This record gives sequence, C-alpha cells and structure tokens, in this order.
Amino acid sequence: MKLSQYYIPTLKEAPKDADIVSAKLMLRAGLIRKTASGLYEWLPLGMRILKKVENIIREELNAAGCCEVWLPVVQPQEIWEESGRWAYYGKELLRFKDRKGAGFCLAPTAEEAMTDLVMKDVNSYKQLPLCLYQFGTKFRDEIRPRFGIMRAREFYMKDAYSFCADEKSAEKWYQILYEAYIRIFTRCGFKFKPVEADTGNIGGNFSHEFMVLAQTGENEISVCHKCGYTANTEKTEIKEPAPAELKDLLPAEEVLTPNARTIDEVSSFLKQPAESFIKMLVYKADGKGVVVLMRGNDELNEIKLKKLLNAEELEKASPEFYEEVTSSPLGFAGPCGLKARKPEVKIYADNYVKTIVNGTAGANKKDTHIKNVNLGRDFEVDVFADLKLASKGDRCPRCGEEFEFMRGIEVGHTFKLGTKYSQAMGANFLDEAQKSKPMIMGCYGIGVSRVIAAAIEQSHDDNGIIWPEPLSPFDVELIALDTEGEVKQKADEIFNSLRAEGISVLYDDRAERPGVKFKDADLIGIPHRLVIGRKLLPEGKLEYKSRTAEKPEFWQLEGLENKIKQILGK
Ligand code: ATP
Ligand code: MG
Repeated sequence: MKLSQYYIPTLKEAPKDADIVSAKLMLRAGLIRKTASGLYEWLPLGMRILKKVENIIREELNAAGCCEVWLPVVQPQEIWEESGRWAYYGKELLRFKDRKGAGFCLAPTAEEAMTDLVMKDVNSYKQLPLCLYQFGTKFRDEIRPRFGIMRAREFYMKDAYSFCADEKSAEKWYQILYEAYIRIFTRCGFKFKPVEADTGNIGGNFSHEFMVLAQTGENEISVCHKCGYTANTEKTEIKEPAPAELKDLLPAEEVLTPNARTIDEVSSFLKQPAESFIKMLVYKADGKGVVVLMRGNDELNEIKLKKLLNAEELEKASPEFYEEVTSSPLGFAGPCGLKARKPEVKIYADNYVKTIVNGTAGANKKDTHIKNVNLGRDFEVDVFADLKLASKGDRCPRCGEEFEFMRGIEVGHTFKLGTKYSQAMGANFLDEAQKSKPMIMGCYGIGVSRVIAAAIEQSHDDNGIIWPEPLSPFDVELIALDTEGEVKQKADEIFNSLRAEGISVLYDDRAERPGVKFKDADLIGIPHRLVIGRKLLPEGKLEYKSRTAEKPEFWQLEGLENKIKQILGK
C-alpha cells in the first residue's frame, strides 16, 4: 500500500480526553477517531489490525470445530422476556421501539438470540454437540465509558455458544474452547494468564477470564507461583490464618476518642496500628441487618459476603439503618455486648479477626472506643469465614504460598452456562430414550477491539506502538527518502518484488521530510523498517531497522526478499 494513496491521518498530539496510552496512540497513529462518548470510527489502518485479530480467532475456532454464523444486532424484546433478562438487565441494555410499537434492544451479548436460533432446528441428541460463533458489534450503555475502545459503548466482539446433550460433553466443549483461547492469545503475542473467575450460582471450576498482563489493567489478579492458582483478586480465596493464642489479656478499658470515627482517625489518635482494630461494618441483606467484623486494615470483599449470605441484594446500611441495627451512633459501633442488646442480629467475622489480641473496637457510644477487647471474653461471633479482599501478605488456599499481585486487561471470558437459558427458553432435545431435556450451554467471548488496545498497552515506547508481528497491519514499512530519480525507482522495484513474495508493505512514498517519515513510522509501529536513500544506494545497500533495535543495520539489496522472508518466518 502506498502511503500517498492511503488514509492514515496521524496526529502530533493526542486529544486531551484520551486517558490511557493505548487510546492516545490509537488516535495519534490514525487507527480510530471518536464519534461520541464510547463510540469510535475505525480508519483503514485500524481495520487491517482488527481483521488480523479476527482471522486468528476465526482460524482457531474453525480448527476447533466451531461454525461461524451472523446474527442481527437488533434483537426482539420477546426473546429477552423468555429468558427473564428483559426485566433484570438494567441500563446497559439500550431498548427502543419500532414503528409498530414492538420492543427491541441492541445486542449487548447473544445468549438469547443464539439459543433462539438453535431451537428452530435442533430437536435431537443426534444434532448435538454444536458450537456456533459470530463476529459483530455489541452495544452496552456503559455507565462510564473510558480508556478509548477498551471500555467503549459500541465494540466488536466474537461470541461463541456451545450446546451439548450431557454434562460430559459440555465439559469437553468448555475445554476445547479454553484451549483454543490459549492458542489465540499466544498467537496474538500476548503475555497473558487465564484466571479463575466467579461462577455465580453455577459453581465448579468453569469460568475463566483471560487477562493480558499490563500495569494499566482495570483488574487486579492474585497469582500463586507455587501451585499456579490464579484468580481475579475480587474473587480470590484466602488461606485461613493461624489464630492468635489468647494469652496475656489485659483488662478492657473505655477510652475517649472525640470525633474520631474512621479507623485511620482512631488509629492515629490512639497511636495504635490499624491491624489491632476490630472494625464493624453494617449491611442490609435482602432487607435484614447484618454485622460484619473485619481487622482494621482489611477490606471486606462484598462478593464473598453476598455468597455466604446467599443474598439477592446486598447494600451498605444507611446511617439510620446502622443506628437501628447496632443501637449505636454512626462510627462508634462495636461487638461488645451486641449479642445481649440485639440477639436477633447475626454477627459474621472474617477469619483474620481471630489473629487479634487486646484489640480496639467501638464502644457503642459517641466519641468512645474500648481498648483490650478479646474474642470470647468480650464479644462473640456467630460465623467466621473468608470475607477479606485479598491483599499483600495473604496466602494461597491450596498450597499456602504468599500471593503475588498483578494487573490485567480482560480480553476474553469463558463460561459454562448449564441450562439457565435453555430451560427458561425451552431449548429442549430428545435424548436416546426419547426423553425431552434442556441443552447444556457454554458461552465464550473475546473483545476483539479490546485485544488491540491491550496489545498496545503491552507493547509500546515513547515514540509509538510496537506491534507484535502477528497483529501488525503490514509486514514491512518501506521508506523512500526521495520522491524521484534512482531512489524512487529502486524503492518502487522493492515494493513490487516484496509484494510478489507475499509480503505486505506500507510504502512511504510521500513528499515529506525524512524526519516526518521516521516519526510516523515509529508511531505506527510496524516491526520492520527499510529505508532507501541516496547515500547507500550507490553501494548497492539499504538500511534495515527493527522497531525495537537501537541502531539500524546496513543490508545488501541483493537477496533482500529472502532475508525479509527469513525474519518474518515466511
Ligand atoms: P468487563 O468486566 O470488562 O465489563 P464483561 O464481563 O462485562 O467485561 P463479557 O460480557 O464477558 O464482559 O464480554 C466478553 C468480552 O467482551 C470481555 O472479555 C471483553 O474483552 C469485551 N468487553 C466487554 N465489555 C466491553 C466494553 N465495554 N468495551 C470493549 N470491550 C468489552
Ligand atoms: Mg461489563
């Protein structure tokens, strides 16, 4: 492709609202433009990369035995009502009516649509298993679109759905897709980790998020290097710590703590470390008051609490509800005497509370705390559990090794759905004994557009993008330093001969200064660059530079095509 005829509007500066390096570079390198909040246009260079990612995914899914289909982006309300999600999906679902008043939405995902499709023709175990996938636009009215295309409202996704007749086959298909995902992200050139994710009410080891490791990732991941347990930190289980020996107990004593409510305030007022505090949190779970005790420096993981309580709805108590549940002023509630005052309130505590000796807690009256509070002697707990958000120092529940924490970008998600949708929508088949059963489903997404942003987050420098070879929009960038004469003629020749060998070339034949061409080449980030100029040409040479090398090399023109092919492994 000749740059003089191509459309790559590069920018010197990124627009002010670009909030992450990949968004800045995608805008500057002329890959995308912004239409409105969370909506982006894709320009020719961006499209080439999108197609590269799409092809890698398509090749691997086809090889795994999946079949590509295409579903409308406009989905009827009816199928969402059949699954029960029309009422429950919330504001991310963009809903509208057609001219006849019928309800529709823009597809945020396609469990309903795909189930509806399969139901039309599949009615026997003989037609199963089946895995269908599509590439297409998804729309989610995200509450806070940000990070360019990483968290957009409209984005490009690959979504696959497996339909099986029995558990064994469903597990096998989960494994097939899991392995295809490993191959896909390896081919993309990523440093990534499949991470155990929450399976909600399905349970079992059947949901993974595929995380590209990058400092700027929205997710935190806990990794055990010894046994390999890796989980999203918000779902990480923690080994129970050894409880403290309850000895050398000091007598409990009230202390005045005027206006000090938060752990930070009280701990600096009393000059005691936060981990010696027993923090009391009050929640409303399905309308009922619940009290949770945590060590002062630990954070409650609400997902764990919600699961433990088996609650549909969980929210932090309002100040009024807090006072009602604890009969204490806001910020001063503590566990001492709570059982006697409020026998109906159940007290939950994180396992780490067992490690506190002579702790400090709220005294249930204004501006007062109690020192030297001890479990058993001064307060009781109904249920101890792992309720803590994993943090430094916590250990793996499987092998006891200390966790390491990393950040990641979720590029893909695999999930065993079971019969949630098939049962609700009546997607049944007849088994060998002619018995009607719901199909067992799995769903598997990849954020194709997010993959590109993740690749840039993982691979760039101060000058621009550094494409991993498999995602690069072109194999080679060729720069001609003159626009006429011998240099131009030779560059044209090379452009043609490389293309004849099946190598894709971005040929900078523009009438621009060399400095502009080099800057743009670094910004666009094609991994291999060739430069033809007046200085080297008489010696039969040209300049080659890898995007990541400090200095160029000087190559003979003769045999150039083979050398490039060798480097590209073609
Ligand atoms: P997240 O936790 O990031 O919101 P999700 O759990 O909602 O993701 P899925 O429903 O599993 O995501 O969607 C499959 C994939 O689509 C994700 O792994 C991600 O790569 C991509 N994706 C999801 N939301 C967006 C978005 N707003 N913009 C771009 N890509 C997205
Ligand atoms: Mg989401």
